[in-house]
Amino acid sequence: MTEIPIQNDRLVQLFTTLCEINSPPRQERAVVEYVKGFLCGLGLELREDNAAEAVGGDANNLVATLPANITGAPKIFFSAHFDTVEPNPNLKIIIQDGVIKTDGTSILGADDKAGMSAILEAIRIVVENNLPHGQIQLLLTVCEEIGLRGARALDLDLVDSDFGFVYDTGPPIGTVITQTPTHDTLHVRLLGKPAHAGVEPEKGINAIQIAAHAISQMKLGRIDEETTANIGSIHGGQATNVVCPEVVITAEARSLNRAKLDAQVGHMVYLFEHAAHLYGGEAIIEIDRHYEGYTLTEDDPPVQVVRRALKRLGMDAPMRPTGGGSDANVFIARGLPCCVVGTAHQKIHTHEEFVRIEDLAKSVDLTLAIIREVAEMR
Ligand code: ZN
Ligand code: CA
Repeated sequence: MTEIPIQNDRLVQLFTTLCEINSPPRQERAVVEYVKGFLCGLGLELREDNAAEAVGGDANNLVATLPANITGAPKIFFSAHFDTVEPNPNLKIIIQDGVIKTDGTSILGADDKAGMSAILEAIRIVVENNLPHGQIQLLLTVCEEIGLRGARALDLDLVDSDFGFVYDTGPPIGTVITQTPTHDTLHVRLLGKPAHAGVEPEKGINAIQIAAHAISQMKLGRIDEETTANIGSIHGGQATNVVCPEVVITAEARSLNRAKLDAQVGHMVYLFEHAAHLYGGEAIIEIDRHYEGYTLTEDDPPVQVVRRALKRLGMDAPMRPTGGGSDANVFIARGLPCCVVGTAHQKIHTHEEFVRIEDLAKSVDLTLAIIREVAEMR
């Protein structure tokens, strides 16, 4: 086996170029075009779906396919998302002591451009060196940060993969996410009745009081080791002289255990409805399953492959659960087996976001090792 040295300069160039293309959710077109140009130059087949319409954005998901140059290997995919959690049109990148960060006034966008650049660089190395590989697809999505919407809208007719790897969690490189909760969102409207607060308050029903009654009795925060719940927002009322007729609340609950999630959501719904009833008002509640949880073990093919690839590189990384969701939740729920793999991005969703160049390079190494492991599964 010949060692292919990662050229850090062009990897850093690729990563910073991706970061410098502003791409908040629904405005990913420019970065999609850049990546299409990159992959087209390497000879991949490019297909877009119609996700832009579904998500209300300016760009579709991109599915790129590198046909196999050997026979009999499983077909795999790598995935990352184009969008960043917020805009960074005036991004100023600072590279210092092997670390890439911003000047502190914006996000870097390493979530998920660290994942994306590792995947793109590895594909470039595979093609340039004609390394043996089975079919590889890249599932590159839009609108991950606003509810995994691109992944939900992904046209599965374009996908032909046995299993895959979603590059969207932090170091150590090669960390595998084994478990995530199922996540429900509650949209609550509490309806009272307006009345003049000074003249005839007895004719009114105060929705704020309904909300207070319900929430004061609600189990929130960490419910148990598998379950959390939160009231995220509450809006209502206009003037002191009006008995408040309506309060709008958003809340969530998450659990690794579906029965416990249902119990917690039931508890929250019951308290809102009970309080509304008590005051003669009304509770209108919509429950939205934000994403389905999953549990993976060392026996699942993508996990096996990552673990073998790490071992081959003499690296180690943890297998751990997480409290958050990613496109992997949607892919798994839609029948595409995969696991989330640790990449280089750190302190994501903050202006202190950074990556270590060494981690970016390791992430490329791991990607190449995964491709090699899969090629040897013939
Ligand atoms: Zn991400
Ligand atoms: Ca994110």
